[in-house]
Amino acid sequence: MIYKVACIGFGAANMLFIAYIASVAPEILPQTLIIDPFFDGGALQRSWPTVRSNTTWSQFTAALGRFKATSPYASSIAHTNNPDEPTQLHVLAKHLRAAIDPYIRKANVLKATVTGIENQENGLLVTYTKPNGTTHTIQTEKVIFSPGSSPKTMTHSLPTIPLAAALDVRQVGNYVLAGERVVLFGLAHSGVLALKHLVDAGCRVSAVYNTPKPFLFARDGEYDGIKQDAASIADDVLAGSYSSAVELISWDKSAEDVQDALLRAKWVVYSTGFENTSPLHVGGIAGVIKNYNPETALIANIPGLYGFGIAYPSFSEFGGRKFWDVSIPSFTDHILKTNILSPVSSE
Ligand SMILES: Cc1cc2nc3c(=O)[nH]c(=O)nc-3n(C[C@H](O)[C@H](O)[C@H](O)COP(=O)(O)OP(=O)(O)OC[C@H]3O[C@@H](n4cnc5c(N)ncnc54)[C@H](O)[C@@H]3O)c2cc1C
Repeated sequence: MIYKVACIGFGAANMLFIAYIASVAPEILPQTLIIDPFFDGGALQRSWPTVRSNTTWSQFTAALGRFKATSPYASSIAHTNNPDEPTQLHVLAKHLRAAIDPYIRKANVLKATVTGIENQENGLLVTYTKPNGTTHTIQTEKVIFSPGSSPKTMTHSLPTIPLAAALDVRQVGNYVLAGERVVLFGLAHSGVLALKHLVDAGCRVSAVYNTPKPFLFARDGEYDGIKQDAASIADDVLAGSYSSAVELISWDKSAEDVQDALLRAKWVVYSTGFENTSPLHVGGIAGVIKNYNPETALIANIPGLYGFGIAYPSFSEFGGRKFWDVSIPSFTDHILKTNILSPVSSE
């Protein structure tokens, strides 16, 4: 069988893509294959389940409501949480899974890791490895490659607390002793939440930022600025509530202070963004494919090979700066705008 679509990765992005297929081309669901080694809902469930979302409940249900196929589900859950408040991320993952469950049942699922994609005359050849180590191939007309991303790291020699642990208040204490110093790189949404957990665990924190000010707030018109829980923690830091535990260091102005903090610290935490680290063998070359056109969603200009999600996002430009659009509402927007399966409007 030659599949119509193979969705590689079962995280938020491809769950939304399934909602899109079910809305614009439901007849191809039986010829759709979804491949993922876990099928748990991706990073929202696996890595960040207890992190409070930076999107409100109403933003989440509005995104689901934009797909014809999941709109009734979105309406049915709209009242189950405060529309103006965020929830924990596992709540979003669970509802995404539930919203598309009827459509997943019509498609085909495969627990495996994709290792290569080859462009052939009659479509794409996808190579995957099953959990038992055996390797197989399938043919498909289109691939939607949404493999997620990993937190960026740096090469300091100090032990690292993984960002996922720093973002889970229950796990921070498994790493640190009270009174130990931690150097935290990055003060955007995740960094600010990690800062609070480290202080709550009794650490002293040297927080390093590379922006003009330690905190950039959405309320000041900063695109992608911190809001909600993170903004309220940042307000407390600036008001001095954390002064005995937190020092703020500018990466640009005080390289020596960063060095000094590293010498005094026992741990580092990196909250400096995310990068696609999923290697793939394409056209005889192995590596992470970064050549991406957000307007067409095509990866490496290969016909039929598309990408979405945090690994292959769209972007917005403000004041000459480029901001990657990484959220469920922006993935929805990206999928609907590129509308790669339908010649007619997707909404
Ligand atoms: C800390 C943090 C907080 C966030 N908070 C929010 C929020 O509040 N609201 C919001 O809307 N967004 C949020 N996001 C952004 C975004 O919604 C998530 O990052 C989301 O998990 C991205 O979905 P994804 O499908 O791109 O990747 P993932 O969820 O990582 O899913 C990728 C999937 O691909 C699979 N995979 C990888 N490689 C292969 C392969 N070779 N073969 C087969 N399968 C493969 C993985 O197993 C995984 O299941 C947050 C992101 C982070 C990092």
